[in-house]
Amino acid sequence: MARMFRRQMAGVGRRAPLKIRLIIALGIALFAIVSYFLKSDVNQVTGEKQRVDLTEKQEIVLGLQAMPEVIRRHQGEHPDQKAQAYVDRVGFKLLNSLEKRLQKKGLKNPYQFDFHLLKDEKVINAFALPGGQVFLTAALYKQLETEGQLAGVLGHEIGHVISRHGAQQMAKRKLTQGLTGAATMASGEMDGARMAQMIGSLMNMKYGRNDELQSDEWGVKLCVGAGYDPNAMIGVMKILERSSGGSRQPEFMSTHPNPGNRIEKIKAFIDKLYPKGLPDGLER
Ligand SMILES: [Zn+2]
Repeated sequence: MARMFRRQMAGVGRRAPLKIRLIIALGIALFAIVSYFLKSDVNQVTGEKQRVDLTEKQEIVLGLQAMPEVIRRHQGEHPDQKAQAYVDRVGFKLLNSLEKRLQKKGLKNPYQFDFHLLKDEKVINAFALPGGQVFLTAALYKQLETEGQLAGVLGHEIGHVISRHGAQQMAKRKLTQGLTGAATMASGEMDGARMAQMIGSLMNMKYGRNDELQSDEWGVKLCVGAGYDPNAMIGVMKILERSSGGSRQPEFMSTHPNPGNRIEKIKAFIDKLYPKGLPDGLER
């Protein structure tokens, strides 16, 4: 019975007139579009309505699964334990400032953060996987001049995680895959092949301009909450601007052909968020 059905279906694929094939294609496209727009979720941290189809727990699992490959591609974790501990300390100060902000609203951070200093001395980069794994290459780390600048970099990456930019990109990617008919949209299960594909796409993820600006704004807020001067982020932009002549564009710069403009935006965020001026005694 099943075999007969399959044969009939195969027959449809071969002999069906153009009109019917178009209707089937349209059906697949429609399914992709409808499932994309049905994926609506309110972000627990930012309160935004977003199109994602992963839970926060799934984001954490996905990030942890992709982490070893990311570390491998950047020559492993940096052997300098003191530097690693320093990065952790600054990262966790920022997370404390996040927790405090959330507590005031009766919210909790759903993610598991971890900060990794990578051995890579060539590629100047910092990035985050969904769920809270944050990375920074030694090449970028060495360029940083102050603790505030390190906080700026990590704060920006925390911003990507809590704004769920990775999960959003993945839902968009699934939409385009559905539209080209490349993916089987029916299964909600994550098999090995799908996981491998996801890890590949996670590592080459490019965010849009708005995602970068939203993360910059989080960077400003978290820095101030942790006692750092957010103007240090402007210093980071300048460092990246200077060093963007390399073979690969740093994550910070990749989507921004006009860094000057982004510096202006950071200044504008600071003015908007702290109209009476920044608190005294912030660390640069
Ligand atoms: Zn970014």
